[in-house]
Amino acid sequence: MEELDPSAAAAAAAVVGRARATAAGTAVDGDRAGELDRRRPYQDADGRLTSFATVLGWRERVTRELEPFRAAKHRSLDARVTIAGSSGELHALLEHAEELADLFIVSAVDVVEQPGEVTIEVAEHGGHRCGRCWKWFEVLATAPDDVCERCADALTALNG
Ligand SMILES: [Zn+2]
Repeated sequence: MEELDPSAAAAAAAVVGRARATAAGTAVDGDRAGELDRRRPYQDADGRLTSFATVLGWRERVTRELEPFRAAKHRSLDARVTIAGSSGELHALLEHAEELADLFIVSAVDVVEQPGEVTIEVAEHGGHRCGRCWKWFEVLATAPDDVCERCADALTALNG
């Protein structure tokens, strides 16, 4: 078993924390618990951790694929990564689709189901860069217009 690097361990801990929070929430609110139960397995903390461990394995593969890109004087955050393969291979990635860009420290991750060998492609994102988090996006927020939607929300919360 390989040791996790500290940032991966921190990311894992964050997800564990969220999974626990979900479990605690279901214990408090009975009606909502039933609703969440029907949405398994996504809300199942153990299953989610298993697939998250698989995602951390993907993270290492993607980091290796990013090496030539970074050697060419790009930042990891300048990348858009496309992972293609059969749905069986990509299952864990699809389950954590929303978290992949942050976990891989890139701007976007596209997961494409197609038959055949798994391929990982790294390209420049080429959209618009957020002035706050430095990630690239297809579109930025409308106000302020130099940051992404997520940063615009964070700024609104800070100022509100
Ligand atoms: Zn941003």
